[in-house]
Amino acid sequence: MKACLLRTPAKIQENPLQFEEVATPAPGSGQILIRVKVCGVCRTDLHVIEGELPPKVSPLIPGHQVVGIVEQNGLGATRFAKGARVGVAWLHKTDGTCEYCRRNEENLCNAPLFTGYTVNGGYAEWIVAPEDFVYPIPEGLADEHAAPLLCAGIIGYRCLRMAELTRGAKLGFYGFGAAAHVAIQVAKNWGVEVYAATRDERHQKLALELGAKWAGGGLDAPPTQLDASVVFAPAGEIVPTALKALRKGGRLILGGIHMSDIPSFPYDLLYQERMIRSVANNTRQDGEEFLKLAA
Ligand SMILES: [Zn+2]
Ligand SMILES: [Zn+2]
Repeated sequence: MKACLLRTPAKIQENPLQFEEVATPAPGSGQILIRVKVCGVCRTDLHVIEGELPPKVSPLIPGHQVVGIVEQNGLGATRFAKGARVGVAWLHKTDGTCEYCRRNEENLCNAPLFTGYTVNGGYAEWIVAPEDFVYPIPEGLADEHAAPLLCAGIIGYRCLRMAELTRGAKLGFYGFGAAAHVAIQVAKNWGVEVYAATRDERHQKLALELGAKWAGGGLDAPPTQLDASVVFAPAGEIVPTALKALRKGGRLILGGIHMSDIPSFPYDLLYQERMIRSVANNTRQDGEEFLKLAA
């Protein structure tokens, strides 16, 4: 099959991915073989390709927002019929036995595998994945619309869940890329007001088009105090700015897998029971709930 291989991480401008012919994978026990129709490009792919996340295997096929068609079931795999349309996301597999898996926190598993990072991903014609970690793709979503839901969408959804929003809540987004442009649609569906801070003027425009109450620069103060905010941009300097805009008891959710250092800030910004929480990966339940909502 044809695939994009990463051997040595480098700046994307140097074209570190090599387009090559490699062996088509065979489905192992409990796995399915999927013919890839589309694979989204995520910011995390860039972190992997440029080496901001340390390399785990080489060569590697990146990509973890895969939509495709089940072609073959491995030994014992019975969940999907041949021809079913499915999605493969970042969480490739967990051990199912560690203290976190047993506590229903499989997103924090001690021995996880990640698609397109610790195992081969979807920048290829074929991919194998464990049937238990594959999502059925709801009808009515085009392949190319479903793909970005599998990471940007699911992670954005988990961030919204962690923000513990109620109807009428005021929610800030810092950075307005793939995850935020999906999450705003969920927030609107929940009756939440969105305030978008992003340095990119095209993204400010998109936020307003998608129904944001306000859009401003990345470090601009929104016109009102916020109940919660999600930081999607991988820039630590946003954290003190975002804390400043939160009401007492407000929640600050950090959605990225990688972030530059957070500068020190006065305790006053955090005091009054404001909270900071990072989001790591997702559970299968997040994915299933979100895909249903998206459809
Ligand atoms: Zn585990
Ligand atoms: Zn991703």
